[in-house]
Amino acid sequence: MTAIVSLRVSRGILAVLGILASTGTLPLHAQSGAAASGISGPATGLPRTADPAVRGIPLSAFPRFVKLADNVYGYEEIRQPGFTTVSLVVIGRDGVLIADGQGSPAATQTMLDRIRTLTPLPIKWYVVGSDHGDHTAGNSVLPAGITWVVHPNSLAQLKRDSAAAAAAGRAAVIVPPRAMSGNEETINLGTTQVVMRFLGRAHTGGDLMVHLPREQILFMSEAYLNRVFPAMRSAYPSEWVAVANAALALPNVRHFIPGHGFIETPDVSREELVTFRDAIVQVNAEAKRLKGLGLPLADAVKQAQWGALSAWFLAEQQGPIAVRKVWEELDGKLPR
Ligand SMILES: [Zn+2]
Repeated sequence: MTAIVSLRVSRGILAVLGILASTGTLPLHAQSGAAASGISGPATGLPRTADPAVRGIPLSAFPRFVKLADNVYGYEEIRQPGFTTVSLVVIGRDGVLIADGQGSPAATQTMLDRIRTLTPLPIKWYVVGSDHGDHTAGNSVLPAGITWVVHPNSLAQLKRDSAAAAAAGRAAVIVPPRAMSGNEETINLGTTQVVMRFLGRAHTGGDLMVHLPREQILFMSEAYLNRVFPAMRSAYPSEWVAVANAALALPNVRHFIPGHGFIETPDVSREELVTFRDAIVQVNAEAKRLKGLGLPLADAVKQAQWGALSAWFLAEQQGPIAVRKVWEELDGKLPR
């Protein structure tokens, strides 16, 4: 892996200034053109994959920040089984907003420590983009007194998870004090406006996105999994397609940031969101076709034909789960 990176460097390709390696200052990526034209941020021309090995990035490069705009960073950290979980960091005049944490107290603490290399300002806001544990299980290390933004559906889920954790004697699940009212909430950070948007139920049911209209950035959390098989354990399969289309249709968005998988350049991020939307459509259609065979679920999933999606991360694990969830929706068994 290191050999790949040094090979690129030895070819004399320019480093992208916007990508900070784990030291917080070291330019990591080898890439042509971008630095010369003054564009900072994610690298271009890399393989379309969630797999760091295929992408040619050593795991030692993580966690890392990807600069998206002045005061705005994506944070890519590796989770099991080897792809990224992405958080968003927005530095305001008086404090920092985070959208989504990482999957353990240690991983989220590392993120907070790395944010200290960007700014001494305190963490003041936390947005629950996804209520799943791989984004929330580290929230016990967040500072007291922060302002939470969470959709009512996610607050209800976190309450259920908290009760289940208490009953099973597992680590406590942090439950925000109150949910947002309505589908939109704006916070003025002094440096920029941040708009939290609920565009419908997708991956969790409480899916919140973070929109920076001036910077034209949309952090989509788990509603956008870049080259990761559509994970549907708690999803709303057909509504997820509508949410992806609503995101693509939003005005003032050039750059779509996923909750898992790599942060792409703006143009590629839109292409890949379209690819992901099409993947959800394909999963819905294939599961519906399998239902038409009249077989029990366990037999039907063995006949699933995912085509190119079978090479995406988690395909083997998530394929059968997605079929079951689409069948539940077709049978009218999902919550209204
Ligand atoms: Zn996740």
